[in-house]
Amino acid sequence: NHQIHVIGGGLAGSEAAWQLAQAGIKVRLSEMRGTGEMTPAHQTDGLAELVCSNSFRSDDADKNAVGLLHQEMRRLGSLIMDRAEPAKVPAGSALAVDRHVFSDGVTRALAEHPNVEIVRERIDTLPTDGMTIVATGPLTAAALASSIGEAAGMEHLAFFDAIAPVIHFDSIDMEECWMANRWDKIGPGGGEGKDYINCPMNKEQYQAFVQGLLDGEKTEFKEWESSTPYFEGCMPIEVMASRGPETLRHGPMKPMGLDNPKTGRWPYAVVQLRQDNASGTLWNMVGFQTKLKHGAQVELFRTIPGLEKAEFARLGGLHRNTFIQSPKLLDPTLRLKSAPHIRFAGQMTGCEGYVESAAIGLIAGRFAAAEILGQELAPPPADTALGALLGHVTGNVETTDYQPMNVNFGLFPTLDDVKKKQRKEAYTARARASFGRWLGEVVEPA
Ligand code: FAD
Repeated sequence: NHQIHVIGGGLAGSEAAWQLAQAGIKVRLSEMRGTGEMTPAHQTDGLAELVCSNSFRSDDADKNAVGLLHQEMRRLGSLIMDRAEPAKVPAGSALAVDRHVFSDGVTRALAEHPNVEIVRERIDTLPTDGMTIVATGPLTAAALASSIGEAAGMEHLAFFDAIAPVIHFDSIDMEECWMANRWDKIGPGGGEGKDYINCPMNKEQYQAFVQGLLDGEKTEFKEWESSTPYFEGCMPIEVMASRGPETLRHGPMKPMGLDNPKTGRWPYAVVQLRQDNASGTLWNMVGFQTKLKHGAQVELFRTIPGLEKAEFARLGGLHRNTFIQSPKLLDPTLRLKSAPHIRFAGQMTGCEGYVESAAIGLIAGRFAAAEILGQELAPPPADTALGALLGHVTGNVETTDYQPMNVNFGLFPTLDDVKKKQRKEAYTARARASFGRWLGEVVEPA
């Protein structure tokens, strides 16, 4: 007796189900975890489990596109953003959470909602009728993936994302490292601007480390993987190192704004660790996703000053990513053109990341709710974060090389007449005004 079937209880499916339920629509939410099934990356049965980093990235809505997306999602009553609040851990200007507190909060909110029925079941074929949202994510189970491939009339693309190692706090030498945020910036949650652990490197140590990355034994690519491109945001550290000796010093190992209290100066390079759980016992290596073999990771990462005795709770690894050619296959409200009773949401649509997946889940839920209720819902304007992201997913119909993408100002209509220094604030100010106007239409349809 449900009105819509949401398949997949991850970031996108949970958010879509919530939006529908809040609109008064009866939802069946199918999640395969909890039946003995697991994906290669999930570790619990909880809904909206974060499989790698515990960060929703920047919460700065004035200068950062993902921070702006957070703000827009909050204005739309996002469950993911709401449940992140009580799960927060310190992370400077980023929004990071204790993954268990967060997932428990999402699971409980949906379980307690009178319009949601959570069913622990694996779905193997796309439903032939009845309104459906498919949000089975980058690790969609194989049978459903081939059913999607058949229905879509195109092969889905699979490649590997890399995950970063996690270290036990008590194995870090805090005499060598120090706690600070870049430029001592204090995050929206307050604090002293000392959220990150910084491990300093001098020039010789950095050069030896880069060489170690290049020389270290890597996981071999299988034949069918070798032609699959990396997504820039998830590039393995050794691939970055192979682009040139200075690349890492301008990327994840950037020392700018990090005064070493021992010297009063920036070191030559820095490895940053970010808190990974509420109790602060686990810390992840920021930007250190890698396909180095586990033994090589331990050996090399223990050459980092302060990490000589590091004990790893998890080492870096490689995982599959499944997504469809959305701009060709989906209409502007995320419906499969060849079978419009089916919508897609989340990372399967070719957005990338927890926040973006939840955002596409949110808008898919809103589109479906409007359709069921016989209302019109115009897509959010292209100069808002949500509209820009949706534009990436559904807008670029001509593209021949569609690739996953995080939200970023590059997806927004340009503002060439504004000076570069003021451009980010100009993008966000324009977006806020535009979003407000759209929201008025959403809440009070003309
Ligand atoms: P998911 O959150 O994966 O949810 C999909 C759900 O569908 C899962 O619960 C799954 O069990 C279920 N499911 C799958 N198949 C079926 C089926 N046939 N029937 C029923 N249920 C099914 N993003 C970041 O922002 N930061 C990171 O650090 C990060 N690291 C990542 C590391 C790895 C290894 C991977 C694979 C992804 C990573 N991502 C990261 C991407 C992030 O996981 C996704 O962006 C986000 O989780 C996608 O949300 P989703 O709802 O689309 O999919």
